[in-house]
Amino acid sequence: MPSARVLLLLLALGLPAAAFAGNPAQGGPADPARKRILRAAGMVDVRGGRLVADAAVLVEGDKVAAAGPATDVAVPPGAEVTDLGAAVLLPGLIDAHVHLAWGASQPGGPLQGTQEARATLLAGFTTVRNLGSTSRADVALKRAIDAREIPGPRMQVAVAGIGPEGKVCDRVFGGEGRAADPEEAAARVREFLAAGADVIKVCAGGGVAPSEADREACECSEALIRSVVEVAHAAGRKVAAHAQGPAAVANALRAGVDSIEHGGLLDAATVESMKGRAFLVPTLYRLDWLLGEAERKGAPEARLQALRTGRALARESVGLAIRGGVRIDFGTDATVFPHGENAREFAVLVEVGLAPLEAIRAATSNAAALMGWEDRVGSLEPGRFADVIAVRGNPLEDIRALEHVLFVMKGGEVLLDETRTPGPASVPR
Ligand SMILES: [Zn+2]
Repeated sequence: MPSARVLLLLLALGLPAAAFAGNPAQGGPADPARKRILRAAGMVDVRGGRLVADAAVLVEGDKVAAAGPATDVAVPPGAEVTDLGAAVLLPGLIDAHVHLAWGASQPGGPLQGTQEARATLLAGFTTVRNLGSTSRADVALKRAIDAREIPGPRMQVAVAGIGPEGKVCDRVFGGEGRAADPEEAAARVREFLAAGADVIKVCAGGGVAPSEADREACECSEALIRSVVEVAHAAGRKVAAHAQGPAAVANALRAGVDSIEHGGLLDAATVESMKGRAFLVPTLYRLDWLLGEAERKGAPEARLQALRTGRALARESVGLAIRGGVRIDFGTDATVFPHGENAREFAVLVEVGLAPLEAIRAATSNAAALMGWEDRVGSLEPGRFADVIAVRGNPLEDIRALEHVLFVMKGGEVLLDETRTPGPASVPR
């Protein structure tokens, strides 16, 4: 049954509770004895880096029991077989940088979070790392999804970003993560952990979009970031650092953070120092979207020029990181652009030099490792959650196939199946 909170939201919208009660996402947990076989023309073997033709995935309860060429996957007695035809299977995608339920303190905020979560899931993103919202809305959203009250991706949540007064994290999170010194920063981390944080975010320096003026921008001291890292790591949580330029990245790396978010102004020396130490989550598509919106709305030329410069700087920076061998994790900063368009990041990553296979790994095995969830998600291997998507066409040849997800299964439950809907043989450009 939907909780009282969800019922109130439904009543506010004039929707009958039964509209949700019939949704498979709100059914009981997957029957552990239920066995299903998904058959499809192909499957991306993320680890092996190839397309497996005529593939099958055996799902038992909410987990993958076997996956591979159909001839290698035995069909157990009583298993239901679902043939997805010409589709290509992949593990559910992971977006390691989103902001679901952003602005939840605004009127309609919590409901907006539920719609965003649903759009994200139906776009094939079965797992996300939510790097902050306001009013603890991401924690509430995650709990509602985990309680099966609403459909949405598996979430790790950061609560809010930590940083000094007046700087980026302080401004965008309404002062909820304000910290003037290492002691206050440690107190914030403890407060967020108590509130339910799975990951900790700190703003090391640089604006939301990169600009030349940000190269030396440092929002907080190495000592403050180290204090955040020490408390988070002692609790078994990783730390994501918003950082654009070399100075901020250097501080964050010395302090021991686990990932650099954005990294729009990296230079060769910074790339070298990141290699093997921290992952980069580039978030490039948002800059295309912002520029497109500004052009559409006829923004002043100075604003357009700043956006064009920021976009060019970020693309050059991420290209440098890719060529320099920095491990890339897929992340978008969704909320800057509409939730559900997350997969548009793939084509941009490929444009700046990431091979399609590596872009897919960024959103599956790499992102799972960044989240410490490699034993749960990010591959179709026995014991992982049965989070499976299907697309039309081979994404190893045309990465934009991932922008049109036809089938979504999360934990053995089918949320979307449009594989029988007629469509073009290949994805339109
Ligand atoms: Zn962000």
